[in-house]
Amino acid sequence: MQEIFDYIDDHWEKAISDLKRLCRQPSISAQSKGMAEMARLTAQLLKEYTVSPKLLPVPGSSFPVVYGEIKGQSPVTLLFYNHYDVQPPEPLELWTTKPFEPALREGKLFARGVADNKGDIAARLLALRAFLKVRGRLPISVKFVIEGEEEIGSPHLAKFVEQNKRLLKANACIWECGGMNWKNQPTVSLGVKGILYVQLETRGASVDVHSSMGTIVPNPAWRLVWALASLKDMDENIRIAGFYDQVRPPTSQETKAVKAMQSDEEEIKESLGLKKFVKGVTGFDYRSRHILEPVLNICGMESGYTGPGSKTVLPCLAHAKLDFRLVPDQRPDDILSKLRKHLDSHGFEDITISPATEGENPSRTPIDSRFVSIVAQAAREVYGMEPAIIPSMAGSGPMYSFTDTLGLPTALIGVSYAGSRPHAPDEHIRIADFILGAKHIAVLLERMASDWRPARK
Ligand SMILES: [Zn+2]
Repeated sequence: MQEIFDYIDDHWEKAISDLKRLCRQPSISAQSKGMAEMARLTAQLLKEYTVSPKLLPVPGSSFPVVYGEIKGQSPVTLLFYNHYDVQPPEPLELWTTKPFEPALREGKLFARGVADNKGDIAARLLALRAFLKVRGRLPISVKFVIEGEEEIGSPHLAKFVEQNKRLLKANACIWECGGMNWKNQPTVSLGVKGILYVQLETRGASVDVHSSMGTIVPNPAWRLVWALASLKDMDENIRIAGFYDQVRPPTSQETKAVKAMQSDEEEIKESLGLKKFVKGVTGFDYRSRHILEPVLNICGMESGYTGPGSKTVLPCLAHAKLDFRLVPDQRPDDILSKLRKHLDSHGFEDITISPATEGENPSRTPIDSRFVSIVAQAAREVYGMEPAIIPSMAGSGPMYSFTDTLGLPTALIGVSYAGSRPHAPDEHIRIADFILGAKHIAVLLERMASDWRPARK
């Protein structure tokens, strides 16, 4: 491997300049900005790295999947899932340098999308190039699926994967991004939570009225507040009947992994200016609550007058946006119907529910999967320390299509670190992590060739 490492050490600057090209191109799926250009540029870059690219249409979407593949010495195939879209860069005034003008400062590269997840695309390509230049071949075959709708919830990817099962056949999958935790320890994460995002809305009179009418005119703001209060008690228990029915208890290995994780609670508390967490959890309870439990969150609510001074008004409309983060084996459609039943049975038939999308299923790869031990071993070799094995991310993603539709064990590793500020101003990666991340992929390819024993079903 030393020659491969040397190649990466000698050529990372070229990969960083390619990464800058990716970051200079805005690709904001939420605003349909620069998406066609970015799809073309991504395909172009794959081609420069001798991965043969194709732009594949995604049913129902105007943003194609950039697909690429390259055959290696062994038929064992690793699939990389990435995305070429990014979050909107606003608020622009909080960026030190402009979001789409990548800037290197103090060993870090700043740009929108550099951590989530264009940096990972570039690092993975660098690892491939190292093998091709040093040995003329990859140890195993690889495939890329780089979609354009991850940041808007991947609404069409499940169908795309269904329709392209044969093309996407592989043995395992490396997920878009990941990286170092607050203790500078590499992480290998093995799942995502599911998500259901809804808007609740209720109306009262046909127009806003004088607040003195509150004696007789129903106030939708109160109705919304009462409805929300019925969903969760002050002990943080979600009160929707059957909400927890499908929650699969964590395996003993998952519990063990969460116990073994180093705690980042002091760093998180400090970075958020918090004195304590929900329910005052600390230590194992803090980590297990964050990683293994579902949550219902109010994202925002609006009704009536909220401007300066006072306005005595009784609003005619109130709405709130909520998200549920789900864990195996909860399903967004099931939770949606349970939410409807809950509102109806509590006298809130007037409150409408509009789901933003179909939502996403949760997904987890078992810790005892052979693939997980190969990824972890590759991390030990590159980082010289034990990686943190995290049973699930707290966030969501379209992983279910890969783990369940395609049957691929899936792990998240990558080139970011806990301070990378994905989705926020001054998003960045550290160059040192980029180089290590490329090496991790390289060792993984090598180890998949020698250590992978496909499970026969
Ligand atoms: Zn991402």
